[in-house]
Amino acid sequence: MNYFSLHHKSPKTSFKNAVVNGIAPDKGLYFPETITPLSKDFIENIDTFSNKEIAFEVIKQFVGNEIPEKKLKEIITETISFDFPVVPITNNIGVLELFHGPTMAFKDVGAKFMANCLAYFNENNEEEITVLVATSGDTGGAVANGFLGAKGVNVVILYPSGKVSDIQEKQLTTLGQNITAFEVNGTFDDCQEMVKTAFLDTTIPKKLTSANSINVARWLPQMFYFFFAYKQLHKKQKELIFSVPSGNFGNICAGMLAQKLGLPIKHFIAATNVNDTIPNFMLNGIYTPKQSIATISNAMDVGNPSNFIRILELFNNNFDALKNIFSSFSFTDDVTKIQMKKINVNFDYIAEPHGAIGFAGLMKYKLKDNEYGVFLETAHPVKFKDVVEKTLNVKVEIPTQIKKVINKEKVATKITTYQDLKEFLIQN
Ligand SMILES: *Cc1c(COP(=O)(O)O)cnc(C)c1O
Repeated sequence: MNYFSLHHKSPKTSFKNAVVNGIAPDKGLYFPETITPLSKDFIENIDTFSNKEIAFEVIKQFVGNEIPEKKLKEIITETISFDFPVVPITNNIGVLELFHGPTMAFKDVGAKFMANCLAYFNENNEEEITVLVATSGDTGGAVANGFLGAKGVNVVILYPSGKVSDIQEKQLTTLGQNITAFEVNGTFDDCQEMVKTAFLDTTIPKKLTSANSINVARWLPQMFYFFFAYKQLHKKQKELIFSVPSGNFGNICAGMLAQKLGLPIKHFIAATNVNDTIPNFMLNGIYTPKQSIATISNAMDVGNPSNFIRILELFNNNFDALKNIFSSFSFTDDVTKIQMKKINVNFDYIAEPHGAIGFAGLMKYKLKDNEYGVFLETAHPVKFKDVVEKTLNVKVEIPTQIKKVINKEKVATKITTYQDLKEFLIQN
């Protein structure tokens, strides 16, 4: 399968190169050259396939012959080694729980798939690859865990000292093996700046790559769970509406690609916090990026969502066609808390802020009688324990996955300047 750059100024490239390099030389995002719908037969008989078989059908055209079938199936098995249940909330709303993976965040799926693809492509390469990541908290854990033990790949994670939660910090700093954590005396922006500087620094004798959500190997496997949800819901014989809490718009864009492959989804709602660049765009078709604003759903504090350009490409930049199947609504922290309470009191379910924004999206859309709404819960409430406990006046139990990490010892090197990072990259 070939991929082209959405800036159209770089040559087409293979899946392998798109994964290894992340972004095209012209800084455009990669996009698959062809998208072939799956057979109607497959979709109609989805019940008869296991999740692994479904995932293989969904991804195979995007990988082509660049990973042998047997290997790709192994990668899939590792990627989706946990449940993706749709839990009923009301008689016409369900929540697709994406937090049953190792770090209890939906990013576990994309991170694991990407790590395994990268390890495969680098298998016979003498030179190791170093993945550099700056994290404000939630992403880092999923990436670190996904890449743990990946052969020929080293991971260096930078996080701002004192600005991530205790659980998040433990998830980043207790893994060991090929994962190195740097605790940066500064902000998330400082971490990101160091990573950017390293990528441009030609004096570092290492192959550096990033693991952010624009990588096709993180984006594409996110289609899997839209199919898994359909498998659980199609017997209801209702039209499906998905509400996706969105920040960089990678997750929802994967859902929309699934629809393009023939998955019967009627409408998508991109629910955001007050970072409302896309809700504004949907009002008038004018894209105005903004500085990001801090909210309680901080994994979605994005003022210039990188994946939205892929959504436009899926619709050939036809605004009216997009509007027919896509809406986007923005919600304040106050509304987020009100919805968290409502879900808890009325439906006896604990949603963390991101999931609650997804629910708010369904409320605003107003489901019709023949429709069934699904909102995505992108993280376990324990990942946002403080705000959940304060808002709902409940105690969030710590699941075993997290307990295991909490008791381990933190290992992180404190750094202050780019020079500290550079010395490490040169010496190790
Ligand atoms: C990353 C993240 C999101 C946003 O996903 P995008 O693909 O960037 O839109 C939502 N919720 C949580 C918990 C996240 O970590």
